[in-house]
Amino acid sequence: MPRLTSRVFTDLALWMVGFGVLIGLVFPPFCLLLGLPEARVMTPAFFASTLVAGLAVGGVNFGLSRLVVGRRLRLLADRMGTVEQQLTDAVFSHDWTSCDPERCALPVDSADEVGASAGAFNRLIATLARSHMVETAMRDFSAVLSSEFELEGLSNAALDGLLRHTGAAAGAILVAREDTMEPLASHGLRGTESLAGNDHVRRVLRLGRTEHLRVETPEISIDSLLVGQAAREILVAPITFKSVPLGLIVLATSGHFERDSIRLLEQLRADLALAVNNALAHDRLERLAAVDPLTDAYNRRFGLARLREEFSRAVRAENPLGVLMLDIDRFKTVNDTYGHVVGDRVLRAVAAACRRVLREGDVLIRYGGEEFLVLLPGAGPADVRHIGDRVRRAVAETSVEDGELRVGVTVSLGGATYRESTDSTDALVALADGALYEAKEGGRNRLVFA
Ligand code: GH3
Ligand code: MG
Ligand code: MG
Repeated sequence: MPRLTSRVFTDLALWMVGFGVLIGLVFPPFCLLLGLPEARVMTPAFFASTLVAGLAVGGVNFGLSRLVVGRRLRLLADRMGTVEQQLTDAVFSHDWTSCDPERCALPVDSADEVGASAGAFNRLIATLARSHMVETAMRDFSAVLSSEFELEGLSNAALDGLLRHTGAAAGAILVAREDTMEPLASHGLRGTESLAGNDHVRRVLRLGRTEHLRVETPEISIDSLLVGQAAREILVAPITFKSVPLGLIVLATSGHFERDSIRLLEQLRADLALAVNNALAHDRLERLAAVDPLTDAYNRRFGLARLREEFSRAVRAENPLGVLMLDIDRFKTVNDTYGHVVGDRVLRAVAAACRRVLREGDVLIRYGGEEFLVLLPGAGPADVRHIGDRVRRAVAETSVEDGELRVGVTVSLGGATYRESTDSTDALVALADGALYEAKEGGRNRLVFA
């Protein structure tokens, strides 16, 4: 094989001129065969003129081929030069509109070698544009992921990015938290809660491989349907970090997923896995720092920080803020009679009973050994009394089993609300504490409002 760029036109010139000379030399004997008289043909002058004619034809052929082929090749080179310049500019300006394959592509009107070169050039530009699209998508996705630490925010932002970059119309992100797959982000899908139990989903998680489901295939049934229109294709991709399944991506479209979109999803899900792993670690650390491991209530340090937040919010918005301080009655006796293990179980049961009757925004804090502080944002005196009494009754109805025995406890509660005289969180807590003391003095298993 000749080398692509070595002596192309020199070779062409030698071949053409050499062939012209050969024709010039062969022409006189050929004339003899045709019957021309030898005396006319076999003369130096005749030889010289056919040789010159052969040389001239070779030269003209060479010139014409340079003109016809060379000009087109020059055009190809010029076009490549322009695109190269546009690419260089785009790399620094991030404006890739001038490198659009539609604009930069060469018209291909023939299937010959020049047409094939132009076709290859067009494919190269298309691949470059795709590679740029993938790079932009990945950069954009990484930026989104690194701006979110919380799992919910991260999942929502990631789903947004995945829908945008894969062209999916609907999707969901599920994350494994405390042994269940929770749908943390969802767009346009119904029934995402039941997705975790789906056979395909389970298989994807087990094998750690993405599945591309075509809904028209009869044996495939997926619980979720695109709202308003049927999903024709669904991608189920696992989010795995170091072979540990952390969650799941579900994307659905009423059209078709392009091969490039599926390949891009594979790239993006690796980034997402790392971010989800970090967010889960962040979540666990935050929980560890904020939650009392025995009762699952907030610990005192975190709880008091929440109190300060709620307090300043209440002052600013002139909203009521109620607090309840509660202490288990005669808890020492429980420990002395049944032991500390049962005592711990009772503590857990008391916290669970409180949680059952508290509202969504209320905050349960383990304030001390067997003392709890409850923050009741928005609660005025009547609400505090009402909720306090519900807590008191819920605890009184709770018991833990110790063999044949049932161990139950009661609580005394002191309630207070933020008002003019309570100008600090300490003053508010002291008010509730004083009321609790009165409840104990008054016979226990009761609520006193300050
Ligand atoms: P009162 O009705 O006056 O509150 O009587 P009490 O016995 O509950 O008295 P107090 O509140 O002073 O008792 C606190 C007891 O709670 C002391 C300690 O043995 C017990 N306690 C504190 N923290 C824990 C815990 O984490 N586990 C267990 N099992 N007991 C605890
Ligand atoms: Mg106590
Ligand atoms: Mg007590």
